[in-house]
Amino acid sequence: MTAQAEWLGDARPLMGTEVSVYLWSDDPEAGRRALDEVFDEASRIDRLMSTYKDESEISKINREAADRPISAGEELFGLVRRALDISVLTRGAFDITYDSVGQHYDFRERQRPDRETIAAARETIDYRLVELDRTAGTIFFAKPGVRINLGGIAKGYVVERGVDILRRHGIEHAAVTAGGDTRLLGDRRGRPFVVGIRDPRQDGEVAISVPLEDEAISTSGDYERFFDEDGVRYHHIISPATGEPAAGVRSATVFGPDAVLTDALSTSVFVMGVDRGLTLISTLPDYESIVIDASGKVFYSDGLMQPETPSTESEKSP
Ligand code: ADP
Ligand code: MG
Repeated sequence: MTAQAEWLGDARPLMGTEVSVYLWSDDPEAGRRALDEVFDEASRIDRLMSTYKDESEISKINREAADRPISAGEELFGLVRRALDISVLTRGAFDITYDSVGQHYDFRERQRPDRETIAAARETIDYRLVELDRTAGTIFFAKPGVRINLGGIAKGYVVERGVDILRRHGIEHAAVTAGGDTRLLGDRRGRPFVVGIRDPRQDGEVAISVPLEDEAISTSGDYERFFDEDGVRYHHIISPATGEPAAGVRSATVFGPDAVLTDALSTSVFVMGVDRGLTLISTLPDYESIVIDASGKVFYSDGLMQPETPSTESEKSP
């Protein structure tokens, strides 16, 4: 019996969402092992970075870092540092300290913080309150009550790491997805992968399909974790400026080379809104974005605007 080259796939519930891996393998047994390793990696990262697990490294930091600098492992330290850099880039739209407010939501139980709770929690939403000491490798919170949560960036990190693992196994065609974040490795053997952006108001329907290869794509939507109350949608993407769920956008998609960045940027563009969000994306040469606003209208970043007539410009690279 000879093993046939084939597409292999699997999906498992992890990180409060679904993680899936799809790959082409010349040797299905080796392919299966690679697949398992990606899922193991996802649970390892979850154990390190989940605020829902008391014994995670991030939970320890949230408990103790306002008292004294707490040393963090290189991996967590590195991701927090990237998150803070993205806060600077997005002028605070992306802010892992949003969790002071975020922790008071329970979407399944339809629980949300009241006005007073939000007002108090806003005092500790500011990424500048997170102080990193690179030499010592420590994290310190400059105010009591500060909390961090990597929910807006960790899934991008997981899919990026997953693709690294597959690459090391010699795999050349794959898609790794965690919730709304996908990282593609190569193409679908001769044609691009096609990634669907969900219709934010029609469950299970695809609004826009994007052909992509060797790239990352992330979507943040107000339909992932939410409840509706008196005509208001309370969802999981918080505007750090107001402490309330960001209004004005139903979904924000960003694609580009790095899933860590597309993940954080999709959350950021959601918070910033159509104009500010797409303006930010236009400053990042390798990144593009598709935004669906509160009325269902679709907006594309500059790089996606197809010229009406054949363009004479051929080379854009410097
Ligand atoms: P999903 O979790 O559906 O993939 P996102 O990538 O947009 O969607 O991440 C949303 C998550 O990001 C929230 O569940 C929360 O953990 C976190 N988050 C919410 N608001 C912010 C914010 N302003 N900055 C950084 N992270 C945020
Ligand atoms: Mg995101």
